[in-house]
Amino acid sequence: MMDLHYYGDPVLRRHTGPVKRFDQDLKTLADEMVTTMHESHGIGLAAPQVGILRRLIVVDVSDEHDEPVIMVNPRVTRRNGEHADTEGCLSIPTLQVEVRRARDIEVIFQDVNGREHSMRGKGLWARVVQHEVDHLDGRLIVDYMTAESRAEFESTWPEVLREALRRRAAGLTVGGDEESPEADAAVGSEGEL
Ligand SMILES: [Zn+2]
Repeated sequence: MMDLHYYGDPVLRRHTGPVKRFDQDLKTLADEMVTTMHESHGIGLAAPQVGILRRLIVVDVSDEHDEPVIMVNPRVTRRNGEHADTEGCLSIPTLQVEVRRARDIEVIFQDVNGREHSMRGKGLWARVVQHEVDHLDGRLIVDYMTAESRAEFESTWPEVLREALRRRAAGLTVGGDEESPEADAAVGSEGEL
């Protein structure tokens, strides 16, 4: 499992470049990201969250967490409707933010072999893809907060982060464990992104 980078780490705000080489290194990286997402109980993960400044995301909204989709150089090419829902982020444990996003989208991306695909979908899948593409552009869910709640969040964050790192070092799930499953709630209690 790769190390997650947390809010406050400048890597989460940096510009990401396109993936140009479709080689074994890319396949290894994508597989490690899928493992990291699953082991963190996430339903999506973007490369900057593991310190890699490339346009690569992984998404798995399946019930059994066994249908990961790797998207290289994803671009949202169509957006329809609007929907607001609560989101969490693996890089910002415990924070929940209501985010208004397109309800259904089309995304064009390449697979690890460089072949282009187009997928259309709605609901949780569309929300996760938009959240992860935001990461590639250095955008985070805190950017959707009101100034007031953001200021409140910023004042508590150093302590929250210390606790999250302590839990992680102790081998506990960051942002919640079996004793407090509600802490893992995000996107209608379906997981973190
Ligand atoms: Zn996130």
